[in-house]
Amino acid sequence: MEGKVRIGFYALTSCYGCQLQLAMMDELLQLLPHAEIVCWFMLERDSYEDEPVDIAFIEGSVSTEEEVELVKKIRENAKIVVAVGSCAIHGGVQSWEKDKSLEELWKTVYGDGKVKFEPKMAEPVENYIKVDYRIYGCPPEKKDFLYALGTFLVGSWPEDIDYPVCVECRLKGHPCVLIEKGEPCLGPITRAGCDARCPGFGVACIGCRGAIGYDVAWFDSLARTFKEKGISKEDILQRMKMFNAHNPKLEEMVEKIFQGVEE
Ligand code: SF4
Ligand code: SF4
Ligand code: SF4
Repeated sequence: MEGKVRIGFYALTSCYGCQLQLAMMDELLQLLPHAEIVCWFMLERDSYEDEPVDIAFIEGSVSTEEEVELVKKIRENAKIVVAVGSCAIHGGVQSWEKDKSLEELWKTVYGDGKVKFEPKMAEPVENYIKVDYRIYGCPPEKKDFLYALGTFLVGSWPEDIDYPVCVECRLKGHPCVLIEKGEPCLGPITRAGCDARCPGFGVACIGCRGAIGYDVAWFDSLARTFKEKGISKEDILQRMKMFNAHNPKLEEMVEKIFQGVEE
């Protein structure tokens, strides 16, 4: 990229944890001689969302009709669109109960509360626009963000991580909470990159980085292991859907284990 790279950070519906993670990176100061930050409301309230940029980082899930229009506008204005965090990539935890109606979910959380905008079911950004790259996590690791940004700045393309949390967990030598404690760890189907943070504290992974890509996450095989440990189908589905609710094959994969169909 020649000249100063124009960068925008855009927020949809979220907890703002991803924004905070990015804002806390001192390394961003080193960027300033090389980049112009065109839009970032968390740091500059006079930001403009409707400006052309080289790289657009979008966090949060598409959860209002206004955000549908916003992501389309960002795509039109950007050369590279990066989805940042589980909300933007997978719809986030707020997609967990996506099979229930919006009215039911709204009532459970807000009662009769009203808002000025038009809410909708939470969805990943990719349901509306083409996404060029993803930075996984809830929130993402700083190193993943810096790696992606640095690679874009030298005009190249970052590699994706295509192996599960278990690989990092074994390399770290943590005791396996799935085998030793019988806890429903999602490490075998979850994209690595966090250095197996939760198993490192003896806590089962809840899959916050989303399923390993290229359609190779073996939800069915892991469901069989969970079933053998006495976990019910409902509990398995609930756990696997927390960060994978938009995976169209998940229920089918779990269902076949409980129907006794041979793979
Ligand atoms: S991905 Fe996680 S940290 Fe980032 S905005 Fe969503 S809930 Fe917050
Ligand atoms: S604790 Fe979880 S992530 Fe670690 S090896 Fe066992 S199943 Fe895999
Ligand atoms: S171990 Fe699992 S839940 Fe914990 S940070 Fe890593 S991917 Fe997320």
